[in-house]
Amino acid sequence: MNLYDRFERAFMPNYGVPPVALARGEGTLVWDVDGKEYLDFIGGIAVTSLGHAHPALVAAVSAQVATLAHTSNLFLHEPEVLLAERLLALLGGPGRVFLANSGTEANEAALKLVIKHGKTTGRGYVVAAEMGFHGRTLGALSLTGKPSIRDQFGPFPTDVRFVPYGDAGALDKAVDENCAGIFLEPTQGEAGVVPPPDGYFAAAREIATRTGALLVADEIQSAIGRTGHWFAHQADGVLPDILTLAKGLGGGLPIGAVVGFGEAGTLFAKGEHGSTFGGNPVSCAAALAVLDNVDLAHVREVAQRLRDGLEAIEHPLLKGVRGRGLWLAAVLTEDRAAQVQAAAQQAGFLVNAVQPDAVRLAPPLVVTPAEIDALTAALPAILTEAHHG
Ligand SMILES: *Cc1c(COP(=O)(O)O)cnc(C)c1O
Repeated sequence: MNLYDRFERAFMPNYGVPPVALARGEGTLVWDVDGKEYLDFIGGIAVTSLGHAHPALVAAVSAQVATLAHTSNLFLHEPEVLLAERLLALLGGPGRVFLANSGTEANEAALKLVIKHGKTTGRGYVVAAEMGFHGRTLGALSLTGKPSIRDQFGPFPTDVRFVPYGDAGALDKAVDENCAGIFLEPTQGEAGVVPPPDGYFAAAREIATRTGALLVADEIQSAIGRTGHWFAHQADGVLPDILTLAKGLGGGLPIGAVVGFGEAGTLFAKGEHGSTFGGNPVSCAAALAVLDNVDLAHVREVAQRLRDGLEAIEHPLLKGVRGRGLWLAAVLTEDRAAQVQAAAQQAGFLVNAVQPDAVRLAPPLVVTPAEIDALTAALPAILTEAHHG
């Protein structure tokens, strides 16, 4: 029996059977179990920031696992301290860090902070955006504005009210002195890489400050250089009260982080939150290697090249391009993203049909100009195949 059939028999059906079985990778290249080569333009959903098997990541993780792999939170270790200090230095505000293992766990911690803020100041509800994605565990799921994945698992203990993303007036109306917190992505990832109108995040900051709600920036997908900035909110000139990170931070090793700024940094009292694996030395060593090796100037250069290359394509199936930095969606004129993903795979490119009419590109941040040119050169034929095939 082949690997796909064995996967289908052994695993719960929540993922279906993925279309490619990957065996190994190097930089932006990956090979499947049959030896077919692909250029990876999705990077494990904006996770593989340094590309596959980056020598610095391999060295850091190998050395750490051979020295000390785990301590639990009963003991501290140097890599976690270095990582927290490093994140705070990149953020440039007085803050405190909590380390988790994933994005959804980072948002669980953020939601607990918001609930505690609400309890201590008499605030009862939380605001989040329609089509927003914050994770699959119950707290994070309660914030996720996609009814198809959320509603069947409710009701949820937290009163979460949803507003249309990008509409500052709707946010202003929804948030009053009884609101404990506002959860927003600076650009919505799973919704199809949708940036808000200019000034939206600054308006959210102003509304939160005026009403006393905590502003939570979910940068799980948008941070660690993805947009050409360390953090997407830096381009908006806005500092949130709470920041959540995961995906690109570990370069493929599981890690999540929550940063609380100002008073939000000291809301948890001793014993009020924890994680056995969170901030383990191996994941921290990986994150430090990522932060040492992301080259923002390179990201900006190749991001511009990718955008220019996509925008130069004239094709009846391609409506336009949206997104920020190395995090773009090719928006289609018809719901044929799944066909584009399949045709791209056939042609040797891994891309992601993130919405029925949008194909997400989030390659490793080390992608080269030649690799970008290879995709943009192949795309017209891929689009034609997907349009008529
Ligand atoms: C992926 C993602 C999450 C969830 O992260 P997991 O590690 O899959 O739990 C949360 N928020 C955003 C914005 C994401 O992109």
